[in-house]
Amino acid sequence: MAKEKTFSAFGPVPQWTRKWGMLFLILLVVGTGFVLWRNGQKQWHTASGPIFGTEYNVKYLAHENLDKDLLGELQRVDNSLSMFNQNSNLSKINKGLTCEADELVVEVLTLAQQVSGATAGAFDVTVGPLVNAWGFGFKQGTMPTDAQVDSLRAFVGADKLKLTGNKVARADKRMVIDCGAIAKGYAVDRLAGLLRARGVEHFMIEVGGEIRTHGKNSEDKDWSIGIQRPTSSGAGSESQGIEAIMPCSNKAMATSGNYRNFYVKDGKRYAHTIDPRTGRPVEHSLLSATVLAPTCAEADAYATAFMVMGEEEAKKLLSAQPQLQAVLISEGKDGTLVTWHTPTLYVDKNSH
Ligand code: ADP
Ligand code: MG
Repeated sequence: MAKEKTFSAFGPVPQWTRKWGMLFLILLVVGTGFVLWRNGQKQWHTASGPIFGTEYNVKYLAHENLDKDLLGELQRVDNSLSMFNQNSNLSKINKGLTCEADELVVEVLTLAQQVSGATAGAFDVTVGPLVNAWGFGFKQGTMPTDAQVDSLRAFVGADKLKLTGNKVARADKRMVIDCGAIAKGYAVDRLAGLLRARGVEHFMIEVGGEIRTHGKNSEDKDWSIGIQRPTSSGAGSESQGIEAIMPCSNKAMATSGNYRNFYVKDGKRYAHTIDPRTGRPVEHSLLSATVLAPTCAEADAYATAFMVMGEEEAKKLLSAQPQLQAVLISEGKDGTLVTWHTPTLYVDKNSH
């Protein structure tokens, strides 16, 4: 019996090619089936807990539970940058026990110095001693005198801090480097990096109100984020609901606000935000600044800087830096709220 032959456009196909072809086809079908099955196995996980004196919340779609890895990464940030942790790398630098910064501290200080430059000193990780002096003042009702403020300013200023490679040089031993206004955002970025490295496509990360999203939410919709309505009606007032909602997928976002942090003395409202350039509390009507930026660390730092700069200066900076977008909520005349946002940003102020 003549052997059956198969012909292709180029002539007869040998037996061995047919066999391998079949095998390849079977593998392809089985492989595709496996991938589809694996995707079907993904679940939404939620990780949350206390960190840096605040809380973290992470929602992510993954095969495995990554909660331990996320907590490990947060602890890594804590070990490097926390002011509460006496043994953190930054605490040791502040105590003069070392001048060598680890990789995370180098990254954060480099970014902090860039933001200081871009904001003409409004963002300043060395402002801590002034913040504390006013903080005590607010609590006790006695504000620091001009002389006290001036003596503290002798060791406050981003220009008095130098980073060369991983060596930190402080112009004065009394200087305190406090990354509290950038570390939460940075922690969010680290967690996002971890999840992306594990192939996680859909997640929302929040550390103390600073947020980063990727992909879709558990309803397979784009993420959207609400901005709290600030109130200017009294010291320590809680915020009152949602002022605006905006779509926020694949974005990093941070908010800084005076609404929780001001003090009324002799009928005058003092923000707890201290302007490092004057050494005194800021006086303007900006109540909250929400910033969207390529990274959450930047968003965090600029949100704090905007609260120092006020609305007009913040708007000028925003028009020069198109990678940043913002929602600024100010107190208008008669105590009404005025919400402004970067024109390129879609913000829904009505449907909620
Ligand atoms: P907010 O929620 O308003 O951003 P945070 O609690 O996140 O407030 O930030 C407070 C931290 O910011 C503190 O660690 C404080 O020392 C620091 N800080 C205050 N003013 C500045 C500033 N101008 N530049 C950098 N850090 C600042
Ligand atoms: Mg901040």
